[in-house]
Amino acid sequence: PVTLALFTADLRLHDNPVLRGALDGAGQQGAVVPLFVLDDGVRKAGFDAPNRLAFLADCLGDLDEGLRERGGRLVVRTGDVVEETCRAAHEAGVDEVHLAADVSGYAQRREDRLRHALRAEGRRLRVHDAVTAVVPPGSVTPQGKDHFAVFTPYFRQWQAQRLRNVLGSPRGVTVPDGVKSAPLPSRSRTRSVSPELPGGGEREARRRLTAWMRRGVDAYEDRHDDLPADATSRLSPHLHFGTLSAVEAVRRARARGGRGAEAFVRQLAWRDFHRQVLAARPRAAHADYRTHGDRWRRDERAADAWREGRTGYPVVDAAMRQLRHEGWMHNRARLLTAGFLTKTLYVDWRVGARHFLDWLVDGDVANNQLNWQWAAGTGTDTRPNRVLNPLTQARRFDPEGAFVRRWVPELADVAGRAVHAPWTLAEEDRPRDYPGPIVDLDAARDRFRRARGARTGPA
Ligand code: FAD
Repeated sequence: PVTLALFTADLRLHDNPVLRGALDGAGQQGAVVPLFVLDDGVRKAGFDAPNRLAFLADCLGDLDEGLRERGGRLVVRTGDVVEETCRAAHEAGVDEVHLAADVSGYAQRREDRLRHALRAEGRRLRVHDAVTAVVPPGSVTPQGKDHFAVFTPYFRQWQAQRLRNVLGSPRGVTVPDGVKSAPLPSRSRTRSVSPELPGGGEREARRRLTAWMRRGVDAYEDRHDDLPADATSRLSPHLHFGTLSAVEAVRRARARGGRGAEAFVRQLAWRDFHRQVLAARPRAAHADYRTHGDRWRRDERAADAWREGRTGYPVVDAAMRQLRHEGWMHNRARLLTAGFLTKTLYVDWRVGARHFLDWLVDGDVANNQLNWQWAAGTGTDTRPNRVLNPLTQARRFDPEGAFVRRWVPELADVAGRAVHAPWTLAEEDRPRDYPGPIVDLDAARDRFRRARGARTGPA
C-alpha cells in the first residue's frame, strides 16, 4: 500500500501520530508520500506574514533533512491544499491520506473538502487527534454544552485526562519514486523579516525544550511575568508549527515535576482551552465571542502610534518595538499592549490582532484571536471590564526599567523609575525625541467604562 502524510501544523518526525499512522498504513513493503503544501488559501487569507514564512522555511528544510537521513524526502507543492493533495495522491497511487485534526474554521473546511475529494476518487482520509493539541477539543465538555467558556473548570478536567504515549521518530521512510516536488522555500528569499527572528525546525525545538527543562522551567512560576528576565520558554513558535509536540512537552514537564513545571503545564492547558473554544465557535476568529455592543473608535493616528511604539507610554512602546524586532512578545507585554489598544484607546481588538498576526512568528488563529478577545473583554475573561493601568503594570513587572531601556533607546539614559513616566521629569530633562503620552489614562478609563455601561470607580 501507498499512503500520504499531509503535514500541516505538525512539522516534526518525533511524536507525530500522522506520520506514524501513514507508516503503519503503508506497512513494511509500502511507501509514504510526506507532503507539505504551500497553500494558496493561507496566502489569500493574509496569513503568510514574512516572519512566519521565514520560520516555516527553516522547519521544512529541517523536516526534509530528517526524512532524508531516514531514506526519504519531503514532497513540497504549491497551490490549493486539497487539489494538490489529491494530485499527489493520484500520481503515487495513494490508498489513504493521514492528517492532523485542527481547530480553525479554515482547517475544519480543509478537512471536509479533502474527505469529499478523496472519497470521490476512492481514497480514505484518516484524521488523527492529539497531534496539535494535548487534549482534543470536544473531548472534555461541561454537561450539555460543546465547550468550556471558563478556564478553571476546564483545567480541572483537562488535568484528569490520560495522555497518549509519546511516539519515537521513525527509523526509515520509503517514498515512492517519481513523485515530483517543488523546491523547498528558502528563508533568505523572505523579505521584511524581523532582525532577531528565532530559527525554526524540529532540531532547534528539541534543543530548546531540553535546555528549558534543564535550566528554565524550575523558576517559571516565580519569574514568568518578569518582563526583562526573559524567563519563559519561547517555545510558542515551535508549538504553533508543530516542530514540538505539545503532548511531549506536557509529559516531560510532568516528569520533571515541581511548581515551575506545573505552572508551565497550566499555560499549555490555556493553549488547549482557546483551541476548544475556537473549534466550537470558529466565528470567534473575527466576531465577538461575547458582545457588549462596543462602538470602537476609528483612530488611525492612535492605532499607528501604538503599532510603531510611539504612544508615550514607555512599557507599551518597548513591547511594540520588541514585537517588530523579534517577531515575538512576552505574554505580560501582549496583555498590556492589547489592553491598552482596546480599553485605553478604545480601538477595535481586530485592528490589534491583525497587527500581531502580521509580525508574530507564533501568530496563531486560536491563541491570538482569543487572547485578544480576552484582553478586550469580549472573550472568556470573567472580569471583562477591568482595565490594566500601564504604569502600574510597568512598575510591577519592570521595576528597574530594564525592559524599557532595552527597547526604547530614547529613554536609555533616564535614571530610576521616571523611565516609566518621562513626562514627570523636569522639562529640561525630558528626552526630546520621545513623544508625550497620547492619551490621559483616567479619562480613557472613564470613557471605556461609560461605553461598557460599567460602574466607574477606582481600578
Ligand atoms: P511560555 O510562558 O513559556 O508558555 C508555554 C506555552 O504555553 C506557550 O508557548 C504557549 O503555547 C502556551 N501559552 C502560554 N500562555 C498562553 C496563553 N495566554 N494562551 C494560550 N497559550 C498560552 N500565543 C501564541 O502561541 N500565538 C499567538 O498568536 C498569541 N497571541 C497572543 C495575543 C495576545 C493579545 C495575548 C495576551 C497572548 C497571546 N498569546 C499567543 C499567548 C502567549 O502570550 C504566548 O503563547 C507566549 O507569550 C509565548 O511565549 P512562550 O512560548 O515563552 O510562553
